[in-house]
Amino acid sequence: MKKNIFLLICFVMLLFGCNAKENVDLLVYNANIYTVDKNFSMVEAFAVKDGRFIEVGTTAQILSKYSSDTELDMKGTTIFPGFHDAHCHLTSLGKNFSFVNLRGSTSYDEVLERVATYNDTYKTEWIVGMGWDQNLWQNPIFPTNEELNILYPNTPVVLKRIDGHAIIANEAAIKSVNLKLNDARILKGEAPIKNGKFTGIFLENCADIFKNAIPEPTDEEMKEYILEAAKECYKYGLTSVSDAGLPLSAIQMLDSLHKSGHLSLRIDAWLEPSDENFEHFKSPFRSDRLTVNCVKLYMDGALGSRGAWMLHPYNDDSLTTGIQVTANDKFHYFCQKAYDAGMQVATHCIGDAAVKNTINLYSFFLKGENDLRWRIEHAQIVASEDFENFKKYSIIPSVQPIHAVSDMNWAAVRVGDRLSGGYSNKELMKQVGWIAFGTDFPIEDVNTINNFFAAVYRKNLDFQPDGGFLTENAVSREDALRAMTIWAAKASFDENYKGSIEQGKWADFVVLDRDIMKVDEKDIPETKVIEVYIAGEKMKL
Ligand SMILES: [Zn+2]
Repeated sequence: MKKNIFLLICFVMLLFGCNAKENVDLLVYNANIYTVDKNFSMVEAFAVKDGRFIEVGTTAQILSKYSSDTELDMKGTTIFPGFHDAHCHLTSLGKNFSFVNLRGSTSYDEVLERVATYNDTYKTEWIVGMGWDQNLWQNPIFPTNEELNILYPNTPVVLKRIDGHAIIANEAAIKSVNLKLNDARILKGEAPIKNGKFTGIFLENCADIFKNAIPEPTDEEMKEYILEAAKECYKYGLTSVSDAGLPLSAIQMLDSLHKSGHLSLRIDAWLEPSDENFEHFKSPFRSDRLTVNCVKLYMDGALGSRGAWMLHPYNDDSLTTGIQVTANDKFHYFCQKAYDAGMQVATHCIGDAAVKNTINLYSFFLKGENDLRWRIEHAQIVASEDFENFKKYSIIPSVQPIHAVSDMNWAAVRVGDRLSGGYSNKELMKQVGWIAFGTDFPIEDVNTINNFFAAVYRKNLDFQPDGGFLTENAVSREDALRAMTIWAAKASFDENYKGSIEQGKWADFVVLDRDIMKVDEKDIPETKVIEVYIAGEKMKL
């Protein structure tokens, strides 16, 4: 009897089965698809089922095997794997929606004007601004807080510099954090004093005292801000981001937004080195959309505010070599915690002393070549003898090509000849054979295309300088694309799930209005993202 049924099934299959096509959720064909697989292959079509690519190939191959209610004839449009920002701050971007936007202010007067306009409209308990940069002003020096004291005698005002490493605060804010001139919390160089008073500028740890005092948005507000920030990411083709350093509460909020289906963006969330985080995450955590596998540490500050820790004094301030923000014993302790939990460490290092010291402290754990994928973030100024140490200890360079063109007009003033080892993306990439790219938004725009352009041409959006800035460290378009897709995924141990258009991986992809691998240099910054898909689902732009 069983045998007869089997024969019957075979007969029915012969009649219909061979010609029946498998039904899938989405079919994309007649496209110009960069898979970014090992061979950098091009294909024309793919089929998506249950959120994953189940087959990629030619249009003829895919259409002969599959059918779907959603079949998209792309008519030659270009498709890439979804972009991944390997170092950014999604939750900060979200929070910034509640701050005065000071980006691009061309004078301190303009900063004050923007604050006044905001204050007229919102009347908040604290006035918080973000994004001023004295390097864009005619007189590029740090401001003092006199005007803010007069204008806002009773409202605390904290205005963060573009890099977040420096703030200007008024007397009302200083009073509310109860900071006195001889306060033990003030580390050397972090709170300049003039005529026996704070100037209002505070750097690094001292700036954090103020940042931590700013009233937090409510959970409901914060959720809204995160969803807004994710939308901003989709506009630029991002399907994944690495959020560089979060408290437990933020990670739990992201997880809950994923679980409730409100948030689609994939997030590689790095841990702030808090007891609470170490207590909670004793080993890496992975859901379909959330990776927790990395501890974020800081070794120094930023170049713009002379907080980057340099081996020798600054060219424009011979009295300072910048700031080491985490003491060696504390740093070692955090590394041990991460190592024991089987996690990566990613350390913010801008200056050459910070890079050197971090490699030194990493070497205790890494010993030699390894696959632990510990990372150095930014690596802006690297001493010539330290490049090969990236290879020696298999340290992943994670850089922001856009920083090079943002800093190019003043970086030489700060560090002089040392710029020859600066923004060395290609040299760093050569050491380990790959590199990860991010934008560090909201310090920069969430614009992956401009980042790609800066990586390849080393020019700003006015196409300056003519020949490009330190172009020996420009990378090819192919490597730039890898650094924002498959290598960014690899930098968080996610390369088996995403980062390329290959069978079995999540169907995360982006449709652009042009082929950025082929169009003329001047057409790249004009590129528009037409559609973005995460797990085969179209995001609202
Ligand atoms: Zn950052």
